[in-house]
Amino acid sequence: MPFPKPHIESFENPIRIQVAELHLEKSGILARAQRVKAPKATLNDVRSVHSNYLVDTVELMSDIGMGQLGESSYASPDLLRTALLAVGGALKGSDMVTSQETEHAFVLMRPPGHHATSSNPMGLCYFNNVAISVRHALKQKNVNKVSIVDFDNHHGNGTSEIFYSDPNVQLISIHEYDYENYGLGHYSETGHGKAAGTNINIPLIETSSDSSYDEAFKRIIVPALERFNPDILFVSAGYDAHYADPVGNMDVDSRTFWKFGSNIRKIVNSLNTMGSVWVLEGGYNAFVLGPSIEASLLGLLGNSTPAFDDQIEREIHAPIIDANKEIIDKVLETIMPLW
Ligand SMILES: [Zn+2]
Repeated sequence: MPFPKPHIESFENPIRIQVAELHLEKSGILARAQRVKAPKATLNDVRSVHSNYLVDTVELMSDIGMGQLGESSYASPDLLRTALLAVGGALKGSDMVTSQETEHAFVLMRPPGHHATSSNPMGLCYFNNVAISVRHALKQKNVNKVSIVDFDNHHGNGTSEIFYSDPNVQLISIHEYDYENYGLGHYSETGHGKAAGTNINIPLIETSSDSSYDEAFKRIIVPALERFNPDILFVSAGYDAHYADPVGNMDVDSRTFWKFGSNIRKIVNSLNTMGSVWVLEGGYNAFVLGPSIEASLLGLLGNSTPAFDDQIEREIHAPIIDANKEIIDKVLETIMPLW
């Protein structure tokens, strides 16, 4: 949204990326990576996932340069170009991994994509960057099965809708869930027809801590990935579950983001998976986003847990840890018979 009078939801803005990139540069981690500029995707790439109506509306509203496209998704003058660059970055990351030019790619782009359904922009998302690049990866000769791990604070509803009946795509989404009001992202959404068992939701309670994420990883995410044995792994990497995030209400710090990197490295090495493509989703505290991404990258590179300033002692909510244990049990009870 245009400054200096931004919309209330303009926490998804270019500063996020600029500050994160500055941190990654200063930390020295970019020196260990190959930096590649995102090419612009085409409208045809986008149409592989999205309806003509959605694509035409984003184009039209970008020309108008203002207005609302859907729930919490607003137009700005540069919307179409920016959204196509984000898709292009994800496609490039996918190509670099499927051609085995690199083992892991991280796509530091915005706007995010995991809320965009086949026909609706919503939740700051216009084109579903991950879904479009997953479809693209599935066209490559060496890719038959793809897994997506979505650890953004919010449920990846768009990605879930797009692949709900696709048995070749496994989606594992771990997110905050509101058990008072309910909504999409419940563990009983398991996939349709031949895809039953490939849509796995881990709906944790607000203020969940690192230990609940750890348990979900060990008991659900690792066995689910081993069972599915994907050719390539995509990660919807949202960092808004951090305790200092202004939008999410979870209670994790950089150690959990390191663990996602470290565990995904181990999974890729132990299975026949060629590599992983990480695509940025949320994460709205610009000062926390950089170190959180750095922690993931250090895990992915095989480094031990970094000691970062955000790793402070916080109150332990035992009832929430116990309730999450029960939720994890229920996810397994629901999903295991379908495997
Ligand atoms: Zn989010």
